[in-house]
Amino acid sequence: MDSNKDQNQLDEQKAQRHKARQQKVKDAVDAKIAKAQLEKGVLLVLTGNGKGKSTGGFGNITRAVGHGKKAAVVQFIKGNWPCGEREVLEKVGVEFHVMGTGFTWETQDREKDTLAAIGAWEAAEALLKDETIDIILLDELTYMVSYHYIELDRVLDALNNRPPMQHVIITGRACHRAIIELADTVSEVQPIKHAFEAGVKAQIGFDY
Ligand code: ATP
Ligand code: MG
Repeated sequence: MDSNKDQNQLDEQKAQRHKARQQKVKDAVDAKIAKAQLEKGVLLVLTGNGKGKSTGGFGNITRAVGHGKKAAVVQFIKGNWPCGEREVLEKVGVEFHVMGTGFTWETQDREKDTLAAIGAWEAAEALLKDETIDIILLDELTYMVSYHYIELDRVLDALNNRPPMQHVIITGRACHRAIIELADTVSEVQPIKHAFEAGVKAQIGFDY
């Protein structure tokens, strides 16, 4: 009997301590929320070697479109694979620009690849000047900078001078440090495992 009473008392004390701790956490979070009053266009970078960068970027575009925002996508790497997200998003008015077929890993024709990259970048630059566009996904842009197809300064200038409320998402592995420094939010997707390593091929409707 007594031991039951002791146990109940202990449980009650534990619950009180938990409540006090959670209240402290809540106070700290509430204070941070109260402090975060700024509204501005956010530059988000999704980088790293794990899976989920492009799908994350498209998820953010879908979220924006769901709230009636105007969105655009520029894809900087394109084989001949279809893109599931494009099938849906174009139907709801999202403007897509896909880098010309000039760019392929197979040809390794640097001049042709550079022209294709610059062509896509010019479309991105026009979007980055357009105040009516609320959010832009620059999918796989990081490679264009690391392979020097597009000059870093040209990218930084356009990002810096974009409309102040415009959100931009850049995806791709090995993002240049200068873009990371300029960004407001940066997430690195780390691979823990990937089905490909166990012999699973890239499948339509899941990987693209
Ligand atoms: P997703 O488009 O699925 O979000 P991602 O954009 O993060 O992937 P990318 O580096 O752009 O990844 O690679 C695109 C393709 O390569 C996808 O089909 C993806 O499943 C695959 N992939 C991504 N990460 C890995 C990995 N660590 N090992 C093998 N394949 C990968
Ligand atoms: Mg990707």
